[in-house]
Amino acid sequence: MGIEEKLPAGVLLTSVEKLVNWSRKSSVWGATFGLACCAIEMMAAGAPHYDLGRWGMEVFRASPRQADLMIVAGRVSQKMAPVLRQIYDQMAEPRWVLSMGVCASSGGMFNNYAIVQGVDHVVPVDMYLPGCPPRPEMLIDAILKLREKIGQEPLGPNGRKMLEARRARGDVP
Ligand code: SF4
Repeated sequence: MGIEEKLPAGVLLTSVEKLVNWSRKSSVWGATFGLACCAIEMMAAGAPHYDLGRWGMEVFRASPRQADLMIVAGRVSQKMAPVLRQIYDQMAEPRWVLSMGVCASSGGMFNNYAIVQGVDHVVPVDMYLPGCPPRPEMLIDAILKLREKIGQEPLGPNGRKMLEARRARGDVP
């Protein structure tokens, strides 16, 4: 009798999924990418006082190929939008986007033609963080919430869609 027949259905797959998600959420590397004043708080969060290294993300990567997380820290100008999209496209899957601050999420006080009114017009956003600017503690809180989300993501190309479906059914918070 093979090991699969001795175990209840789905046990092996669930274990692999948990292991992969644990390793993904324990080594989320951010892209070095600051746009405005919010970036100062993001840099502070990475410095020794707040120490993002506690969650395996002490390194911000200069190459999008080595980054999993884009923290959009600041308002996005119309001129910067295609560059931001290009960096996002260069990041390998799985990748996540955190919109940091009210400007990145909605344009904030910059309700004018020069600023994108929400970075979700350019890239899909996984986590929105309010504030002007959000303090490093708030950024860390958003990152921890994103880590929870990463930990629940089903494997495979449709993982995120499946996670949304699970949420809609109330299977996961
Ligand atoms: Fe600057 Fe505030 Fe906008 Fe952040 S939310 S980019 S701190 S104006």
